[in-house]
Amino acid sequence: MADTIFARILRGEIPVSFLHQDEVCVAFPDNSPQAPIHVLVIPRQPFEDIIEADDETIGHVLNVAATLGEKLCPGGFRLVTNTGRDAGQSVQHWHVHLLGGRELSWPPG
Ligand code: 5GP
Repeated sequence: MADTIFARILRGEIPVSFLHQDEVCVAFPDNSPQAPIHVLVIPRQPFEDIIEADDETIGHVLNVAATLGEKLCPGGFRLVTNTGRDAGQSVQHWHVHLLGGRELSWPPG
């Protein structure tokens, strides 16, 4: 398993402000926000992508992301998980983007 920037965040080597932490996952702001609210929810276990992650972890991470979305984005929100090269996944540690705080266009690029 490659050491990723998210593994370094989980080890506390890169400081972030956690919005949520539990035994399965953590959430923190994306450092290159694409919307007024742009949060990453990542499992502690370093699955490369959603295909590798187990159902229980997927369910938990999505539930945390939706709960944060409801709290932070009263007007609505979008959950995105880029998977693989064509989707532009740049960090090989599964994560969910929570985007909101403005009207989001569709379809995405
Ligand atoms: P992906 O392109 O893999 O779907 O998303 C990776 C996300 O991680 C990008 O939105 C990028 O801005 C974010 N990111 C990369 N490095 C860091 C970092 O060191 N800190 C934070 N907070 N976000 C990061």
